[in-house]
Amino acid sequence: MEKHEINAVILLGPPLSGKGTLASRLSLEMGMTHIATGDLLREHMKNNSELGEKARSFIEGGNLVPDSLVIEMVFDKIKSLPEVKNYLFDGFPRTIGQAEEFQEGLSEKGSLKVVLMEIEDEILVERASKRLFCPACNATYSQIVAPKLEGVCDVCGASLVQRQDDNPEVVTVRLVVYHNQTEPLVGFYNNKGLLLIIDAKKSPDEVLKEALDVLKK
Ligand code: AMP
Repeated sequence: MEKHEINAVILLGPPLSGKGTLASRLSLEMGMTHIATGDLLREHMKNNSELGEKARSFIEGGNLVPDSLVIEMVFDKIKSLPEVKNYLFDGFPRTIGQAEEFQEGLSEKGSLKVVLMEIEDEILVERASKRLFCPACNATYSQIVAPKLEGVCDVCGASLVQRQDDNPEVVTVRLVVYHNQTEPLVGFYNNKGLLLIIDAKKSPDEVLKEALDVLKK
């Protein structure tokens, strides 16, 4: 397998823990290219690509898209950006299988750090009911980061919607999936000495500051 010489930071955390918000700001601050597998998959669904069609029923039901599809999509993205060396992964990997394959594909000359966003489930369910999403440019809004004009995207002016998978039933499934399939990555990366932990209950500014602090240590 081809080995990629990249520096990668992984944001690990449950749905609605603020990975996307932190990733947008952190990638700017640290000069990293932000790869959000959820955004890439939603883009494929919007374009009705073959991958989008394969992924749709998993995403809409709150389940994970099969590892092989996600891995291929991520490595294709890395290959399409040969000049990029610094990456911030948001929502990837989400299973031990993805983490192992990802590690296999990285050259030892690169680096890997994992930031765990710790937060309780009750807060996440509450956040889901308040989150709005821009289907045109993927911007996300919440009670804290509210749009200037109600229901309208600040970035591109499109009408905001609730993500189909943010409805309460699907959020419940996504949390179960997180605990069963993604949370084992905490032990996986901790055993490798790569895990950095931040408190995701705090405000977006404080979360950014904590992430910058742990990554600079
Ligand atoms: P997100 O926007 O990160 O919350 O992702 C939305 C949905 O996309 C998830 O609930 C999964 O169905 C799918 N997805 C995103 N990233 C992955 C991944 N790394 N592995 C499997 N499925 C994923």
